[in-house]
Amino acid sequence: MEIKKKDIRALTKDQLREFFQNQGDKAFRGNQVYEWLWNKGAHTFEDMTNLSKDTRQMLQDNFVINHIKVDVMQRSSDGTVKNAVRLHDDLIVESVLIPTKTRTTACVSSQVGCSLDCKFCATARLKRMRNLNPDEIYDQVVAIDRESRLYFDRPLSNIVFMGMGEPLMNYNNVLKAIDKITSPEGLAMSPKRIVVSTSGVPKMIKKMADDDVKFKLAVSLHSAIDEVRTSIMPFNATFPLATLREALVYWYEKTKNRITYEYVVWEGINDKRKDVDALVEFCKFAPSKVNLIEYNPIDDGIFQQAKSEAIDMYQKVLESNNITVTVRRSRGKDIDAACGQLANKE
Ligand code: SAH
Repeated sequence: MEIKKKDIRALTKDQLREFFQNQGDKAFRGNQVYEWLWNKGAHTFEDMTNLSKDTRQMLQDNFVINHIKVDVMQRSSDGTVKNAVRLHDDLIVESVLIPTKTRTTACVSSQVGCSLDCKFCATARLKRMRNLNPDEIYDQVVAIDRESRLYFDRPLSNIVFMGMGEPLMNYNNVLKAIDKITSPEGLAMSPKRIVVSTSGVPKMIKKMADDDVKFKLAVSLHSAIDEVRTSIMPFNATFPLATLREALVYWYEKTKNRITYEYVVWEGINDKRKDVDALVEFCKFAPSKVNLIEYNPIDDGIFQQAKSEAIDMYQKVLESNNITVTVRRSRGKDIDAACGQLANKE
């Protein structure tokens, strides 16, 4: 019977060192392999030319090297690039490169499909689900960094976990990927340039605060009224706003990092004065800012972007309460690369 080989990139450097020691070899061999895997991007054990033939064969017998493959790349008229990323088991996730004049942002996926059920999100409709491994998350970032250098002549500057999936439902792997992205052995990016966006899992927000993470937190709020939020994000029934609020206060007290609320205004759903007033109250619990994001229709017509008067009202009321608000336009709509549109159509 064939033994299922382990993905060698799931091992930490220490684990690799230990593996070689257990084989009666030098721990240092682990560092060499680690360097091949992460710094030199080796795709086969054959490539690891400073190891003996026997060692390479031994690794080959025990492990596989899983790498993502960028299958389809689409470029939008506004410069946005969407990657369809094929995983070793042939599942596909998507990631997006978003260029502006001064920045290149990578929008990466954390899961295949999503375990949550936001009514307005295309990813939520995908059935199949598994968590991405740390290397699968890291590889998406590396691929976009390469594309940024190739098309825009500059390295990647920012990362948002706003692709497919709920990052806090795959917390350990997301954390490991971020460790690699920020470490000098990886991409040496500042954690301040990384935003983890969550639909709001209170227990995990508290855990992040306890872990003293240095990246930024964004919460997809969309309504500060339980009844409304539950109707569009049903898991809010399990994690109601009071619990979310308590976790966010805890986050702020521990990290002193302000929170960004992502918020879409939909016609007839959350476009009234009472909705804004509830948001203002919610914002008072911890220093925060609000990103009003444009809705990207995903088909059925239940959700419609609110009229510009409603957006103006939100902006005016928030500002008069000294809450920073930005109105964000969507990018990459012509290639279905905008927020909430990632769903593997091909
Ligand atoms: N699960 C995480 C990250 C992925 S979604 C989260 O919920 O934050 C990234 C952002 O896109 C979230 O703010 C989400 O609410 C928003 N979004 C989802 N579908 C959308 C759509 N159709 N139009 C605009 N934004 C959408």
